[in-house]
Amino acid sequence: MTVFSEFSEFSDLSPTARAVFAELLVHGPLSRAEVARRLDLSPSVLTKLTRPLLDAGLLCEEPQGGGGAAPGRPSFPLRVDHSRRSYVGVKITADELFAVRTDLGATVREQVGLSLLGHEVSQVADRVGQAVELLSGSGAPAAVGVGLAGTAARDDRVVRRSPFLGWRDVPLADLVERAVGVPTVLENDVRALTAAEHWFGAAVGRRTFALVTVGEGLGCGLVVHDRLVSGKDGVSGLIGHLPIDDRGPLCELGHRGCARAYVAAPSVRRSVRAALDRPELSFDDCLRLAGAGDPAARRIFDEAGAALGRVVATVANLIGPEVVVLSGETVHMYDVCASAFAESLAAHTHWTSEPVAIRVQPFAFTEWARGAAVIAIRHDLGAG
Ligand SMILES: [Zn+2]
Repeated sequence: MTVFSEFSEFSDLSPTARAVFAELLVHGPLSRAEVARRLDLSPSVLTKLTRPLLDAGLLCEEPQGGGGAAPGRPSFPLRVDHSRRSYVGVKITADELFAVRTDLGATVREQVGLSLLGHEVSQVADRVGQAVELLSGSGAPAAVGVGLAGTAARDDRVVRRSPFLGWRDVPLADLVERAVGVPTVLENDVRALTAAEHWFGAAVGRRTFALVTVGEGLGCGLVVHDRLVSGKDGVSGLIGHLPIDDRGPLCELGHRGCARAYVAAPSVRRSVRAALDRPELSFDDCLRLAGAGDPAARRIFDEAGAALGRVVATVANLIGPEVVVLSGETVHMYDVCASAFAESLAAHTHWTSEPVAIRVQPFAFTEWARGAAVIAIRHDLGAG
């Protein structure tokens, strides 16, 4: 049995020790020499920093081939034992919440969905508490992350605005923390997913990238020089209503031809239904019709792809990303509108720039809650 003699919480460690751990979590296994090189540390300092983490079992040595470590042999690479801590991530939607329990490597171990009985703040906080309890069978998590659409950021305890819940200035982190008894943090859901892509997904090793999500809305998360961009008061990446064409369809706020009016799933569905006079069609029905060559559906998806290409070009022109990751509930529409997207992206990318690298990341709904768990992991490690 491991004796946690010198380690109880990451917050007890020095910032450099936490940086070592985070480096190994995201990029490991790594040799000691490589960790020392990456963080500009001497071998003796690294040995001192890793000892409590090895003693606690949070780090271990990755065996290579046969035989164990022995005096005189070169040491094995270090890696994080993901099973040593667990986290809960919760995504709140208008009528349900989804929660996952992950390990340190953000692998989902358990999940649960609960309906919301209302949008009363105390009701929602209680429901989050119940979800955490349901996922705590094997012990309380080290931290809880809560993600939702709206204005929220990890360094703030308060949901500033969440229109879909009708909330303004709700101290949700404190309410949930009181209910669950472990450190709790909030984050905007798209930014949480961006953090997950940065540490455990399509953007590992990228210092500057953007995530653009398509689904009920249109979202954007930014990482610049390895920092998640939260903006002032948790506001950043608001690309949903970028103007595309002032002769285009209307969005729900009455903008003519904004990005959301072209790309968001409800807008696409509405346009196809109206064009074909078939109010029963689901989004995936519309997508199938476009894929099968129905001219009206095809045109609407091509316009959606072109609008998305323009949005991505705009984001790329602003931050110069190494890659733009596309994801979200309806990212599978990319297969149908890829050529319209690519043409528009190329046309709107600044003429001095290299072509923008695109990664399409398949999406499952648990990704939102997993993103919130990654925020909890980063918070536990004191990482930005
Ligand atoms: Zn709009």
